[in-house]
Amino acid sequence: MANGADVDTALSAASAAFPEWAATPALGRARVMFRFKELIDQHRQEITGLITAEHGKVLSDADGSLQRGLEVVEFACGIPHLLKGEFSSDIGRGVDCHSVREPLGVCVGISPFNFPAMVPMWMFPLAIACGNTFVMKPSEKTPSCAVRLAELLQEAGLPPGVFNVIHGDKEAVDALLTDQRVAAVSFVGSTPVAESIYRQAAERGIRAQSLGGAKNHMVVLPDADMEQAADALIGAAYGSAGERCMAISVAVAVGDAGDGLRDALLPRIAAIKVRPGDQPDADMGPLITREHLEKVASYIQAGKDEGADLVVDGRDLEHSSWQGGFFLGPTLFDHATPDMSIYRDEIFGPVLTMLRAANLGDALGIVNGHEYANGAAVFTRSGKAARDFATRVDAGMVGVNIPIPVPMAFYSFGGHKRSIFGDSNVQGAEGVRFYTRTKTITSRWPEGLPGQGGSLDMPTLGD
Ligand code: NAD
Repeated sequence: MANGADVDTALSAASAAFPEWAATPALGRARVMFRFKELIDQHRQEITGLITAEHGKVLSDADGSLQRGLEVVEFACGIPHLLKGEFSSDIGRGVDCHSVREPLGVCVGISPFNFPAMVPMWMFPLAIACGNTFVMKPSEKTPSCAVRLAELLQEAGLPPGVFNVIHGDKEAVDALLTDQRVAAVSFVGSTPVAESIYRQAAERGIRAQSLGGAKNHMVVLPDADMEQAADALIGAAYGSAGERCMAISVAVAVGDAGDGLRDALLPRIAAIKVRPGDQPDADMGPLITREHLEKVASYIQAGKDEGADLVVDGRDLEHSSWQGGFFLGPTLFDHATPDMSIYRDEIFGPVLTMLRAANLGDALGIVNGHEYANGAAVFTRSGKAARDFATRVDAGMVGVNIPIPVPMAFYSFGGHKRSIFGDSNVQGAEGVRFYTRTKTITSRWPEGLPGQGGSLDMPTLGD
């Protein structure tokens, strides 16, 4: 766990490396990314093994998350093109104007436990490709992956000091945020911390992209294919034991969709195999810590006490060979209402809560009434209903018959409302803008042109 002195060492290394790295042509920086991509492919199994060993998610899911991170590296390989500026000739007589995007300096990344590879890779590949240097502070609960990625970057030819990893918790984060050498902060984690990071960055006048928690809704209309909707919901609600910021934790069944959906869910829930994540037949692994297991279990009790219909109770899971682990079975509530804590709070576990709505308008009222607004999905066969939903829903990422609408690396990722603080999403072109600042250069080569006559007036061009 890093203390202030360790943070200072990392920031000193990053500061010292910045001028030379920023001066390296974008093509040279891209070539490091190409080699890094190859190395990740070569070490795929090893990295997914680290993710599963520390987080607990099943290996195939860990591999999918690594792939999503890798796609950001692929996007960053195109950095020479992405950094192209604007140019206008003759904005005045003999006067040209162009803009360039320059790196910021030392950037910092702080990531949550649930995506040990993907979330850091939303951040550092683009930051580095843009010419910045970087200090990554991964979650103390899943620390090893970032270190392995750092080793692979070094092997890919990244100069020393450009990418640094420090471990730690609030103490390390506070030391990073108060250091004057830090030019920008990328944060992903829970909403209270995201908000506090954004406030601290704003106070200092530095950039922050700060992504918080979520409660993602899937609205199922009566005309949807219930089998497909149930398949989608099972993966989105219980994959990674619900420890995903894009997990669907709320199903809003419209009209008479609820009973059919519930009937389709039950056999699928019964078939989910909860096992240690490295077992080949595991569908769902354990939760991250005992403390988190207890928190999720206490929400199940609260939902029952508040009067929701507890259809499947994950606490009944039979523990056999892994007594003492942090396992919880998939849980389903039905007939919940928006005032209940199981609906309001982000539980971050394998708990799916179903609400009933009379029509699409009511369903949208429920979705848009929630404080979180990361992703939202609609399942329907009606193009009009889907279009209405996508237009009227207040969420950053919307799926139509897609349960987890995580945008690809060439689009940006981010929610609305209290799922994000600051005005910048991560990845995509928005990521490039976040990690660079614009310089606009107006130039004139006056040889052979009339002089400007020493006027004190506001200069104008264009005649
Ligand atoms: P967390 O907020 O507890 O921790 C995130 C990071 O912040 C960690 O690196 C941690 O060490 C650090 N941290 C924790 N408390 C801190 C404090 N008081 N001051 C400064 N730093 C602190 O989150 P977590 O439990 O690791 O991750 C789960 C949360 O992350 C969920 O809320 C989930 O929705 C969210 N998440 C959001 C997204 C998204 O894209 N919006 C993606 C993944 C996870």
